[in-house]
Amino acid sequence: MNTRKKIGVLALQGAFTEHIASLQKLGVEAAAIRLPQALESLDGLIIPGGESTTIGRLMLPYGFVKALRILSQDGFPMFGTCAGMILLSKGALDLDVETIGAMDIKVRRNAFGRQVDSFETLLPVPALGEVPFPAVFIRAPVIVETGPGVEILASLPDGAPVAARQGNLLVSAFHPELTSDLRFHAYFLDIVSAYAPNVIASEAKQSELGT
Ligand code: GLN
Repeated sequence: MNTRKKIGVLALQGAFTEHIASLQKLGVEAAAIRLPQALESLDGLIIPGGESTTIGRLMLPYGFVKALRILSQDGFPMFGTCAGMILLSKGALDLDVETIGAMDIKVRRNAFGRQVDSFETLLPVPALGEVPFPAVFIRAPVIVETGPGVEILASLPDGAPVAARQGNLLVSAFHPELTSDLRFHAYFLDIVSAYAPNVIASEAKQSELGT
């Protein structure tokens, strides 16, 4: 079976247009997602960079936090970039909004301070091959704690982890959608392709929720 995959990009605030363009270049269907009901038809979701406090404040009343927590229990693939990484984490210091908490990491926001708040660097990412990835950091977070199931995919020269994977969850502190290098999006699509939702478990969960 080779059906065309459909990936959503959470479009409440932030750099969602650029992610949609990257996905389209890779030949998958990409949709801007503004309501949780639209999650049902998706094979995966990207949570973009932007302002985590703003996106988080909008996610909660719309019902995204609850919906994405439930989906993540079934292994629904999600890729969080920058603010999206913050929102997938178990929590960040000095963040006063609820996160989805699906990924067993803790992060520090705006980890590079005001002097060097944005920079680009060629980052070794062994999972993507030998050629380093052009990573654009904009007021970026870093990962400060990881649980046992988390694989670190890339770190800065000082050792700070900036990309990681846990099962079908992928995060990067930087913005792969702002470069023409599509390898991070392709890596996420590989995760999506390998994902086979457990239909029986999903149906049981739906009836549990009364939906
Ligand atoms: N500094 C932002 C935050 O804490 C993240 C910046 C970004 O997504 N580029 O939410």
